[in-house]
Amino acid sequence: MREITLSDGKKIKVECLSCAIAGGIVEPDGGKVMETEFFHAHQDVIYPIRGLVILTSKRHVKGFDELTEREKSNYIDTLSKIRKAQRNVLGIENVYYFYNEDTPHHFHTWMIPRYDWMTRFGRSVESVKPVLQHARVKLNHEKNVQKVKKP
Ligand SMILES: [Zn+2]
Repeated sequence: MREITLSDGKKIKVECLSCAIAGGIVEPDGGKVMETEFFHAHQDVIYPIRGLVILTSKRHVKGFDELTEREKSNYIDTLSKIRKAQRNVLGIENVYYFYNEDTPHHFHTWMIPRYDWMTRFGRSVESVKPVLQHARVKLNHEKNVQKVKKP
């Protein structure tokens, strides 16, 4: 079991956070953004940045190469729909996509929106870590970050 501190300060103990969220055991603050047969999308539960969406598989797998053909095509389709909603609903012009396999949890893709305020943390991918740390420490009071509109 791992202990995880959520964006609202609450601590939870889970074996796999992705399983817990996709299975409805942990309810993310921003709620579910979208759900398909194979994937679950939600506002990130740790970093309170509006429109920071995590797309996770429902199956407990680690790598892209473990996805079935149907999961792969559903993944691209779902990712594009969320991207469209980020653009149309939240006006997000640029998004960074990040996915790592050496996670204690399972397959999930980060869709990190790039906002103007992030430029002071650097250009491009180098700014991602300081931006996330800033969000975790400084942005927790903003209640609007909890709101993610459904596509
Ligand atoms: Zn899992």
